[in-house]
Amino acid sequence: MITLGEAYTILKHAVRDRKLRCVACHRVLDEFKAEWYPHPDGLPGPDGKRYWLYLVCPHCQYQNAWWKLLKQLERESHGH
Ligand SMILES: [Zn+2]
Repeated sequence: MITLGEAYTILKHAVRDRKLRCVACHRVLDEFKAEWYPHPDGLPGPDGKRYWLYLVCPHCQYQNAWWKLLKQLERESHGH
């Protein structure tokens, strides 16, 4: 299982490299706006609790869940 810190770093680099698109408006996420909150199905954080991580789209404000964005990266690395 990927940790909160690992997911945060992967998504930050992906936004820097302009590799992610908003799930709702399909525009490139060109600004890193990460937020998280406690959630039982989330990612394990440094304190042992689980957190839901999402990136806020700078264009439409949609909250893109971490797992949807990681899926996008996975698809890309497998050459579609
Ligand atoms: Zn959007």
